[in-house]
Amino acid sequence: MSTTILVVEDEPAIQELIAVNLSFAGHKVLRAFDAEQAQTLIRAELPDLIVLDWMLPGASGITLARQLRSDERTRQVPVIMLTAKGAEHDKIEGLEAGADDYITKPFSPKELMARIKAVLRRRAPQLTDDLIQIGTLLLDPATHRVRGGEISLTVGPTEFRLLHFFMTHTERVFSRAQLLDQVWGDHVFVEERTVDVHIRRLRKALEPSQHENHIETVRGAGYRFTAQPPKFA
Ligand code: CA
Repeated sequence: MSTTILVVEDEPAIQELIAVNLSFAGHKVLRAFDAEQAQTLIRAELPDLIVLDWMLPGASGITLARQLRSDERTRQVPVIMLTAKGAEHDKIEGLEAGADDYITKPFSPKELMARIKAVLRRRAPQLTDDLIQIGTLLLDPATHRVRGGEISLTVGPTEFRLLHFFMTHTERVFSRAQLLDQVWGDHVFVEERTVDVHIRRLRKALEPSQHENHIETVRGAGYRFTAQPPKFA
């Protein structure tokens, strides 16, 4: 699945190296040379992950990381700090500012890609291509296939994203607004009842293998995907 990654790095050669590798891996790349430019890009489109250099002209990467963590809209976006500093207290400062991981320059593109994948897996598993199995329900993001037991299920693109999100966030209740943010994306203006329509379609798509009861309606709150649904409907 394509993810949008913002690279904030003032050294053109390093920015280029990171951007090329990310593009090659299938990610959409946004680039900024400083914190201010980064904020402008973030206002226009919320990235799925940010690779953030520590030493930037103007506001530092640490300052930007703190701002991102204190803002409701950007709080959840994973951040990987990049820096030439190797001292232990810098690392701790970076993590305290809200960074999810930390890479010391010089690094190999391979290492960076591995870290990005690990952070996404931990923070946003619905953005990785890992095969997911819950009970006898199987979802393969790489091939966009869903199988319920022995039955191959036909799931539309939006329902697929919805199911992928649910299967990577089981047992938690999500409001319609949260599902819109997570599945449809930030800055997308869709009415909340659209969620209900797609939930209905998703349940219908799961019916042939009787997996529709995984999706529970929580009155007054939203929806939940449970790994162990009640046996009766
Ligand atoms: Ca720098």
